[in-house]
Amino acid sequence: MSDCIFCKIAAGDIPSKKAYEDDLVYAFHDIHPLRPTHVLVIPRQHIASLAHVSAADEPVLGRLLSVAQKLAAENGSTDGFRAIINTGRVGGQEVPHLHLHILGGPEPVGPMVKKV
Ligand code: AMP
Ligand code: ZN
Repeated sequence: MSDCIFCKIAAGDIPSKKAYEDDLVYAFHDIHPLRPTHVLVIPRQHIASLAHVSAADEPVLGRLLSVAQKLAAENGSTDGFRAIINTGRVGGQEVPHLHLHILGGPEPVGPMVKKV
């Protein structure tokens, strides 16, 4: 999609700090890291959110998850990490291109979400 910031990052049209890339996914460091490790993994193709996937997307969704452990370990999170996919309004998604957050570091990330 031409006006999507993450499509532009995957295409190299907007600069990013690359962590990994292959034929299906691109990974880069979050511009506002919330933990010592904060990497985003995105599909190269535009998928708006996890609410927009179909069975045809299973190869790229699998890749998104299968690279997480390697990216966490290579970027300072060798003893576990948290993977988050914010989805839509209720999920608090700000950028409408599907992305997996990988959060970690030497210390525990903390409680999952606050109870309301
Ligand atoms: P979400 O709230 O799940 O949509 O997360 C969007 C994430 O994208 C946030 O953590 C932002 O800090 C991050 N972000 C937005 N623009 C950029 C950018 N140009 N480079 C790297 N990370 C970005
Ligand atoms: Zn996009």
